[in-house]
Amino acid sequence: MTTGTTGEVVIQTAGLSKSYGRTSALVDVDLEVHRGEVFGYLGPNGAGKTTTLRLLLGLLRPTRGQARVLGLDSWRQAPAIHARVGYVPGDPALYDKLTGRALTRYLGSLRGCYDGDGSLRGCYDGAHVAALAQRLDLDLDRPAGTLSKGNRQKLILVLAMMHRPELLLLDEPTSGLDPLVQVEFLAMMREHVAEGGSVLLSSHVLDEVQRVADRVGIIRAGRLVAIERLETLRARSLHRLRAHLADGVSLSEFAEVPDLHDLRLRDGVLTCSAPQSSLDALVKRLAAHEVLDLACEEAGLEETFLTYYGAPTEAGASYAGQAEDA
Ligand code: ATP
Repeated sequence: MTTGTTGEVVIQTAGLSKSYGRTSALVDVDLEVHRGEVFGYLGPNGAGKTTTLRLLLGLLRPTRGQARVLGLDSWRQAPAIHARVGYVPGDPALYDKLTGRALTRYLGSLRGCYDGDGSLRGCYDGAHVAALAQRLDLDLDRPAGTLSKGNRQKLILVLAMMHRPELLLLDEPTSGLDPLVQVEFLAMMREHVAEGGSVLLSSHVLDEVQRVADRVGIIRAGRLVAIERLETLRARSLHRLRAHLADGVSLSEFAEVPDLHDLRLRDGVLTCSAPQSSLDALVKRLAAHEVLDLACEEAGLEETFLTYYGAPTEAGASYAGQAEDA
């Protein structure tokens, strides 16, 4: 997507690390997110995504390193950050007996918002809350405890956005939402960045991130292992190829073709996965033989992602359906 990225850094971490006893949840993370950007933060369960967000908000103190959000120190200036940031936690607690309307009013009055003159005030804009709820198709008059999982999630999104934050820190925000509401929320994120806001979108689902992110950071076992523009990830997208050849062929003929994965030959049928950049060389090798049948289809980004960055190194940090050579 195209955004109005200004280059102004809204999130900056340097050597950010957090240990819980002997568990290293986050190790030396250096990250920069710019204004006008949706930054996807992807990693399997237990990779350290929630820990990162909680460090950015000053809810946790780093063991080592530093985090700055909107130019402020995350640990020392947390209240000033909270006034300007919207946070969707992964496991939020709500006051179950209060209706959505009462909750937004109560939490809005507790939350500090900055006035034009720089003074802090409570912030509750009923019309804005109603507009957000309407877009997400949320009934504000039901007690939070009676809401379904998806409707509860909608209320959490409204609570995160009702004070018009400059930066959204989102931990799996579309979890439980039906597809139509997901589309609406992604549109709201795009509007937010178009108006100069920024988003850090944490998820273990690539599909959620690829629909909206400009850049993607990949975290595994507490380490940031790659940062890619989404276009780059797409260009490395794998193609699955299957060719049925009439005459004798050997795998060694394909040794020079770069970046092939899962190369196999059985009963004259050759199969492999290849990035787009290797297809020309691959097809030229195949052309030395009589080709009886040929099929080539693009694999999803999920498979590409797992192939390049998949192998988790920590117990528990695993993806289902992992590619064989990942
Ligand atoms: P998920 O996608 O499952 O929410 P995550 O990427 O958000 O995972 P974190 O919740 O940040 O991962 O956890 C990172 C690591 O830190 C995990 O090994 C986890 O078990 C550990 N961890 C997190 N919180 C604590 C805690 N309070 N005490 C001890 N270990 C913790």
